[in-house]
Formats: sequence, C-alpha cells, structure tokens
Amino acid sequence: MDWPTQDLVAARAAATPDRTALIDADRDESITYRGYDAAVGRRASALNQLASDDPDRIAVLLGTRPAFAELFFAAMRLGVSVVPLNVRLTPAEVSEQVERTDPAALICARGTAATATEVFEGPIASVDETERDGVQALEDLGGEPVEPATLTPETEQVVMFTSGTTGRPKGVRLTVENLVASATASAFRLGVSPSDRWLCCLPTYHMGGLAPVVRSALYGSTVAIQREFEAAETARVLDEFEITGVSLVPTMLSRLLDAGWEPSEQLRFVLLGGAPAAEELLARCRERDVPACPTYGMTETASQIATATPEGAASHEGTVGQPLVNTTVTVVNEDGDPVAPGETGEIVVSGPTVTPGYLDPEVTEEAFGPEGLYTGDIGSRDEDGRLWVHNRVDDRIVTGGENVDPGEVVAVLREHPEIREAAVVGLDDDEWGERVGALVIPADEAHPTAEDIEDHCRERLAGFKLPRTVGFAEELPRTASGTIKKERIRNYLTEGDTQN
Ligand code: ATP
Ligand code: MG
Repeated sequence: MDWPTQDLVAARAAATPDRTALIDADRDESITYRGYDAAVGRRASALNQLASDDPDRIAVLLGTRPAFAELFFAAMRLGVSVVPLNVRLTPAEVSEQVERTDPAALICARGTAATATEVFEGPIASVDETERDGVQALEDLGGEPVEPATLTPETEQVVMFTSGTTGRPKGVRLTVENLVASATASAFRLGVSPSDRWLCCLPTYHMGGLAPVVRSALYGSTVAIQREFEAAETARVLDEFEITGVSLVPTMLSRLLDAGWEPSEQLRFVLLGGAPAAEELLARCRERDVPACPTYGMTETASQIATATPEGAASHEGTVGQPLVNTTVTVVNEDGDPVAPGETGEIVVSGPTVTPGYLDPEVTEEAFGPEGLYTGDIGSRDEDGRLWVHNRVDDRIVTGGENVDPGEVVAVLREHPEIREAAVVGLDDDEWGERVGALVIPADEAHPTAEDIEDHCRERLAGFKLPRTVGFAEELPRTASGTIKKERIRNYLTEGDTQN
C-alpha cells in the first residue's frame, strides 16, 4: 500500500468531502471532512505563525476535545510532531516532560493556561477564544495558508508518554508508519465500514484516546469525541449517536453495566484494554450482548498488539486473542529463547507498529533485543497462538532463587471449582527471600479449606510455586482503576490487616 503522503484529513477531504468526520458529543455538533479540512488548515496557519521557523515538535496540554484532533492533524499538515501532555500531571511533572521534548510552542486551553505559562517560556496559545492568564487565543493569530507537508513513513509524528506504572513515564516516539500500520492492522481484526462511528472518551494524551482519532481519519469514518467518561452520559452518547465502536478500560465498562446500559443494535465492538478484563465482567457482557473484545496493547506499539473477538474470549477464558496482522509476538525465557506453547515468559513484540525508540537512547537500548521490544509483561501462548497476559516482570516472585509468575499460580487457583477469584503476591521470608502468598475469594456456594487448595495446587505446580500462606476474603481489594492492591493483600496475609 502507498503511504499517505500528506495529512490524513487532507487526503480524506479530497476523497470523501461530504462524509461526517467529527462529532462533538457534548455539544451535539458535527463537521464533514470538508469542514474538518478547513479547521485543520486554520489551525495549521496559526501554529505556523506561533512557532519559530521550521519547528520539530509542538506540545499540547489539552483534555479530550475536538480541538485536540484538529491540532493533531494541523501539526501533521506542517510536518511537525505532537507531544500530548497529560492534564492531570502536576506543573512540575509537565515541566519535566516539556524539557525532555523541547517543543517549539505549547498549546493550552482555558483550564491549563496557568500551568502552561508556569512551565514554558516559548510561545503559548490557547484553543479557547478569550485571552486569559496573558495567553493569546490561537484563533486570533491568523497566518498564511499552509501547503501540506510531504510525509514519509519514518517521520516522527507523536511523542506519547507511557502511564508511568513502573517508574517515570517514558517518552515513546511514534512514526507515521507506526500509526498507519496500527490503524490498518486494527481494521483487519475489527472490520471497518464507511458508516462506522467510533466513540473516543479516553484521554487523547494516551494511545487509547489518540488511536480512534487517527484511525477514523484514515478510514474516512466518523469519530465522536466526548470530553469525559461518565457512565450515564456515555450511555446516552453511545445510543443517541448510534456509535458502532468504542474503546474503554475495564472499570469504565463495568460502570456502564452498573448504570444499566444496554448496547444498541449497531454497536459492533467494545475494545477493552489497558488492564486485564475480569472473567466476571466478560460474563456480564455476554448476558447483555455487549460485544467486548479483550485487548492487550501498549504505548510503544501505537495501541493494540492482540485482540480477542467476543466469541474467542468466551471459548478461551482470560485470553487477549491472537496478535494483529503483521505483529509478531514471541514469548521468551530469561535467555531470550522462545518457550513452548503453554509455558510462561516475557512477551516480546515486533512489527511495523513498534516504536523506533524512546526519547532516551539508553532506555531504547535496554528495551530492545534481537527479537524486538521487550514489553516487561509476562504471558503465554497456546498452540494456536492465542495470548494470555499474566503480570508484569516486576511482579515476579523470587523464592529460593526460583522465579514464580503470580499469574500462573492465579490461573491454577481459579481452576478450582470452589474458587471465584484469587490474587498471588510475594511475602518476605527469612529462609527463602520470598514465599508465595495467595488471597482466595471462595465461590458463592462453597468454601474450600486451605488443605483442599494445597492438594489442588500440588497436583499442578512445582513445589516452589505452591502458595505457602493462604488467606480468604469476600472481595479482592482494588484501586479505582481496577488494579489489585498488592500491598494491602501482603499486610492482610501477614498481619490479618485489611485496612491499609
Ligand atoms: P510504564 O511503561 O510507564 O510503566 P504502562 O506500561 O502502564 O506504564 P501503557 O503503555 O499505558 O503504560 O500501558 C501498557 C501496559 O498496560 C502493558 O504493558 C500491560 O502491562 C498493561 N496492559 C494493557 N492491556 C492489558 C491487558 N489486556 N491485560 C493485562 N495488562 C494489560
Ligand atoms: Mg510500559
């Protein structure tokens, strides 16, 4: 296929000018590709006026809103890379990311103008109309019409910061090729139709929010943007705008179901990623005909790596499905050798969606091996290539010099008919360094004893992997985003304390 040689909106405006491009779901307004193209053109002229000669990058400190999409393609039109900054960071954190990316200009909004002026000495403009905090309005800058720049596949188009789960957020450089390859591979898995409407209610300063914006423009379909997820309001938007696809994290989907949401007929997929989708959640989805597609992805691969269909998720519990087309996933042991199907190891990924590298060359050096990018995630595959993601390398338990992946022990525990849920953590141990601890949530109708659990595990796991300390509770302690509070489980298992 030919690479797009100009920004995606310009290409679409030439091909399908009258199709709806962008819906502002909060204001119930929409524009066609012709209108989108004009808005992108105006933004590009203003950016050109604002930034110094021939800028490399511009930073954008904006929440999820249509102006973000227009700015993204305006930068693409100028051949400039975008640095989306997380509006929830402190000024000190924003300042650090600005320093690391060295943008030629910073775009903010009314709510982020104060931070923008605090952290950046270069040119700043706001997408909101009124001048505030001494920040000029982008609209007022005018500027000459811009000739679309010629793009090449290897042009850096965005620097996206990771979520910072395992440390300082890493700046991931993604190219035009990465974004287009990801959009193409996603279309092969999810299908695509010109009448598609993808709802974006995840932050556009993460890949899960940016992806639908980029993809819809490449496909010539519609993206609807909602500023903030709110269960009842999002349910209304899904229904009213006849949304055909939506990207969500598991907590959002579970809130939608709690709010009584029933999907409408045209909804084709719920792309469900960012964290493991609990079996219980998927079972609720099946009851209500919600087409949930468990997905494994990361910033470094411009989002999806593997995605299961609803049927695939139902027949193979816990899987995130097969890798997308052109994406190669290898599960390797500590020597970097591929493991056999069913065995666990680190997930390594390669293909055209994988970043050429981070901002920091040392981080890049550490993350890449001959087989590709080491994800830092532990997983396994079956004979047919389906992938399971168990836990992060950092969560590994080292007991008596042997590595135990908590996910493997959890999977065995969950096979027990009297166990509904389980979490496995490492506990400090004088003799072994660490030992395996398990918190077990019994099934409603039955309660296994610690001896039952030991017998069950002994048949299926090597001795060093056996849970040495087992506790019971009614629910797993989770954070607001759905991740398990491991520290609280450690305290409970060692001191019987559930309160901290
Ligand atoms: P950092 O790299 O800064 O530590 P992060 O890895 O959380 O942060 P992201 O790129 O936003 O930043 O998240 C990608 C990670 O999210 C994956 O590497 C994986 O650990 C986790 N993840 C994504 N989808 C799933 C899933 N379906 N199941 C389990 N984990 C998932
Ligand atoms: Mg990561």
